Amino acid sequence: MSDKAVRVRFAPSPTGPLHMGGVRTALYNYLFAKKNGGTFLIRIEDTDQTRFVPGAQEYIMDALKWCGIMPEEGPGIGGEYGPYVQSERKHLYQPYAEQLVKEEKAYYAFDTPEELDQVREQAKAMGMPNWQYNSVTRTSLKNSLTLPHDEVERKIAAGDPYVIRMKMPRNKDVRFEDIIRGWVVVNTNNLDDKVLYKSDGMPTYHLANIVDDHLMKISHVIRGEEWLPSAPLHVLLYEAFGWDCPEFAHLPLLLRPDGNGKLSKRDGDRLGFPVFPTDWHTAEGELYSGYREKGYFPGAFINMLAFLGWNPGTHQEIFSLEELCEAFTLDRVGKAGAKFDSEKTKWFQQQYLRSTSNEELAQLLSQKLTQSYDINKLATICGLMKERATFVEDILAEGKYLLEVPEAYDETTVSKKWNENAAPLMQEWKTRLAAIPDFKAENIEAEFKAFLGEKNLGIGAVLPLYRLLLTGQGTGPSMFEISEFLGKEECISRMNIGMQKLA
Ligand code: GLU
Repeated sequence: MSDKAVRVRFAPSPTGPLHMGGVRTALYNYLFAKKNGGTFLIRIEDTDQTRFVPGAQEYIMDALKWCGIMPEEGPGIGGEYGPYVQSERKHLYQPYAEQLVKEEKAYYAFDTPEELDQVREQAKAMGMPNWQYNSVTRTSLKNSLTLPHDEVERKIAAGDPYVIRMKMPRNKDVRFEDIIRGWVVVNTNNLDDKVLYKSDGMPTYHLANIVDDHLMKISHVIRGEEWLPSAPLHVLLYEAFGWDCPEFAHLPLLLRPDGNGKLSKRDGDRLGFPVFPTDWHTAEGELYSGYREKGYFPGAFINMLAFLGWNPGTHQEIFSLEELCEAFTLDRVGKAGAKFDSEKTKWFQQQYLRSTSNEELAQLLSQKLTQSYDINKLATICGLMKERATFVEDILAEGKYLLEVPEAYDETTVSKKWNENAAPLMQEWKTRLAAIPDFKAENIEAEFKAFLGEKNLGIGAVLPLYRLLLTGQGTGPSMFEISEFLGKEECISRMNIGMQKLA
């Protein structure tokens, strides 16, 4: 790696909500910056005004904040190299495009969109479906390379619309070494004369991206694989300007769970999992669901994303953000597309939920409840239920009986276990319970074991009945802990209610 200060950027276009793949790009940039003592910035690339979506920029910033990977420079944050929104830097780009024209590395093209459509149609009719404006076809089109000099000047003076195109050299091999993919070589005969500056007075993505990466002193460009085809043009642009080229790292694609194609924006809700970090409401009133609102913890989401394309080379799977910053290197990012696995995502969430303290979970749970409960009580509930939950909400859904007398009794358990011996047996057990002086889980357990011994019965003949009466369920956490939690009086009262209802 060069000894230049590490500065990396996440450069989303505000064309909609940020897809999971975009968050992963931001994350890898963040991790790379932290690992190398560098700076992570965000630049909003909004030069394509036709695709601008209101609210998208705010969405992106909010999503990064939720994920805990905020940039150090960016819109609303500040920094030495601002503004960080390309439309606010509009005035900057034209001189660079003009410089390239002056140096004969670019040219003005006056062809109207209609004229180009016509040429394309003609080419198609002649069996050339992929017509391009390139080093061959430009010689017969309307541009400053074919038109007389004074006509070009007259057209510009008259305000005729034009674009500035890259004058792609003929038959030249462009090479660069991608950190993830190794050497990439592309011959310029396969590249077209891309528009650098548009007739609406805005640069295209390519020009603005290169100018800004240069001005913002970006050392490494870490972005999705879909930008790999643009990289040779970018390398040529750096050369044309005589600037140092940053290093490139093109990240693998995120694939659908079946490995069949790229994970797209539409896939999520169709396949039953979110593909966005947070909910997105379209102007048309549609909802694209997000991980935050589904109840995922940002740490779990980030941990899962980190593993989509990277691995630490060990068996460790649970990493805090700080640990990821420490462990992350680009040489452990793979080339092959990374298959998204929604079950694995849930697994990460479960692991995070289990390792969250009961007190913290209780706070989160209390925010979701309409009624207020004693926080210590909630913490105990969290401790009892978290092994069985994936999301905070599950704790209550699964353990509602810890706060309320059950309304119904699990039918399978009733039909399997509640026979004519059940009620007398439970009456006896109730009397034993009532006599326990210190109503603690271990004492209740000891009493229960003694009871089984005297009756010469196995656990399976008694415990499910007791659980049924107290919780209405067929399974659940330790009945002795549940009993202690409910307290003697409540246990006895629930046993009475249950026996009455099941009689
Ligand atoms: N604006 C591009 C995007 O939307 C950025 C690509 C790059 O990082 O160069 O992804």
